[in-house]
Amino acid sequence: MAELLDVQHRDPGSRARTAVLRLAHGEVRTPAFVPLATKGVVKGIEPHEVAALGYDMVLGNTFHLFLTPGHELVAEQGGLHEFMRWSGPIITDSGGFQVFSMGHGTVADEIKGRAPTGADRAGAILSIEEEGVRFRSYIDGGERFMAPETSMEVQAALGSDVALAFDECTPFHVDRDYTERSTERTHRWLERCLAWQDAHGRADQVFYAISQGGVHEDLRRGSTRVVAGSRAHGVAIGGSLGAEKAQMYEVVGWATDELERVAPGKPRHLLGIGEIDDLVRGVELGIDTFDCAMPTRLGRHGMAIVPDPERRWRVDLTKGRWKHAREPIMDDCPCPACAGGYSRAYLHYLFGARELTALRLVTLHNLSYVARLMADLRAAVAAGTLAEAAAAVRAGASPRA
Ligand SMILES: [Zn+2]
Repeated sequence: MAELLDVQHRDPGSRARTAVLRLAHGEVRTPAFVPLATKGVVKGIEPHEVAALGYDMVLGNTFHLFLTPGHELVAEQGGLHEFMRWSGPIITDSGGFQVFSMGHGTVADEIKGRAPTGADRAGAILSIEEEGVRFRSYIDGGERFMAPETSMEVQAALGSDVALAFDECTPFHVDRDYTERSTERTHRWLERCLAWQDAHGRADQVFYAISQGGVHEDLRRGSTRVVAGSRAHGVAIGGSLGAEKAQMYEVVGWATDELERVAPGKPRHLLGIGEIDDLVRGVELGIDTFDCAMPTRLGRHGMAIVPDPERRWRVDLTKGRWKHAREPIMDDCPCPACAGGYSRAYLHYLFGARELTALRLVTLHNLSYVARLMADLRAAVAAGTLAEAAAAVRAGASPRA
């Protein structure tokens, strides 16, 4: 069997690497950003458009698809790939984050784009026990139960290429003692996920464990060693990574430092992180894949990604200052919105008129920007010029790919 992660280039000045991640439905060129198809759709656009932008993989969500339309229905329809008409690889989040967001509320994290949506918050957690979590569905108010085995069963029914372990997503505002107990439970749940995989796992699905441990160095390093040393095929870095970027980079750095030692050949996914500067730093820290709501969610709210570090790489097209602007979002962008010649004035007007095409066009632009950035970073690692490329992005250079 071919290697799961075929590492091709290593950056001499950092932990960055390029690789080909070989999955049942195709290859993912890494480092890669993975757009969210939370409910089985990248909101507003079709799978062939996602592929045309340069994406190899999308992320579906176990929690949402479990509640509606239900994994049995998706399986009956031929699995998630067939149901949503995406033929490439799919990674599924385990549902742990969404389940625990209901209990931990809006403090789930401060800087991650993985924050719960309004719909998530409408649900309610009823009990968290060793066996699993009982909660009220935001769809119909009915009582539901999710355990590690439930999450594995749902992900197998969906037929994703990569399944994630069911973890407790430890929030930021808890003490060290809680984080330690929660991380230990995540490790016990990992064993149950692995036992389920051994007994019922699909041959065409790989399984990633999730590192927790919050922002405590010994807990984060310890959790990363435990999950990396398990039988899981890959590792995702989850939970609270801190209240600010400097802390997040430090925490991710502890995790990838352990991964280099314990399991250098296993793929690494960073959950819920995807701002432009975070992607650059994440690549330097040795992350292979990222997912985040940021590019698509911002796009739906009229925020376009632009090479402007001073303004966190974004421009708000809903602002009145664009009412008469003839220029596109970016002059040198090949996306359907910019290459199509749509002006900022037109997009501003469409957002004001609540026209759906506005959401589509800015989503396409944002996803195009991030895809080209990742292509640039891969090319730079391969050419041995990552330090220069990263400095250029941080100084406000446009993607070149
Ligand atoms: Zn564009």
